Amino acid sequence: MKVIQIDTATPNPPEQAILIIYTGGTIGMVKDPKIGGGFVPFDFEQILEKIPELHHFDMQLTLYSLEPLIDSSDITPEYWLRISQVIQEHYAQYDGFVILHGTDTMAYSASALSFLLEGLNKPVILTGAQLPIGTVRNDARTNLLTSIEIAAAKKDGKPLVPEVCICFHDLLLRGNRAKKLESAHFDAFQSENYPALATIGTHIEYNFSAILPYNSARQLQLQPVMESNVAILKMFPGISAKVVKNLLSTEGLKGVVLETYGSGNAPTVPWFIEL
Ligand code: ASP
Repeated sequence: MKVIQIDTATPNPPEQAILIIYTGGTIGMVKDPKIGGGFVPFDFEQILEKIPELHHFDMQLTLYSLEPLIDSSDITPEYWLRISQVIQEHYAQYDGFVILHGTDTMAYSASALSFLLEGLNKPVILTGAQLPIGTVRNDARTNLLTSIEIAAAKKDGKPLVPEVCICFHDLLLRGNRAKKLESAHFDAFQSENYPALATIGTHIEYNFSAILPYNSARQLQLQPVMESNVAILKMFPGISAKVVKNLLSTEGLKGVVLETYGSGNAPTVPWFIEL
């Protein structure tokens, strides 16, 4: 764990403070000649040099780098717990939180955090990038700057978006309704069953009727309960009894989510129903 105070144009004492939690992912990667030019996560101090705009924010920006930095394919429920503990420990000192995260499992993390952080009353904005911040043409810079702006946005002293969200390209989405749909386009995330909380263009247009309203009575309470003894069973034509049986007989398995067809259809053959 490493904490850096970013040198900004904040008044002293600061009127606003945002904590940026860096977990890894493409956003902060550089090419490493040692592994044949493959990408590896790099130190956020070097990232700061790539975004001098951060120094113009008139708020306190603190960077908290988690260790180890990971590709988000390595995320685990234990890591979610660590992120939510960092938020809980720093909840009173900051107005909002930005989490820099790989895109591959960002929607899972946003969803998990929305349940771990019960009673949340401040913005927790996850973002990342399709191209690293060190590349000349990238989406990392705008995704990070917009996320900080949204995390700090207030009206009458109250946060505009007091919930866990994903901010990516031109959309702000509810965290537990977002899905990564594109791996080669900048508009990587969509919400198929809930409207966007904001659209991001020359202005950030907030969709207030879709955003969870601020409620001063809500108190943050961490729900540190995560169960890993679960599995997802995806339906596909030709799924065999052997595959289903093996999965269901996994030792210690406590639950299975059936990923079914359409509005919940699955094979009707007797072996499937019996299993
Ligand atoms: N594999 C990377 C990750 O999820 C991809 C990304 O950041 O977009 O960490």
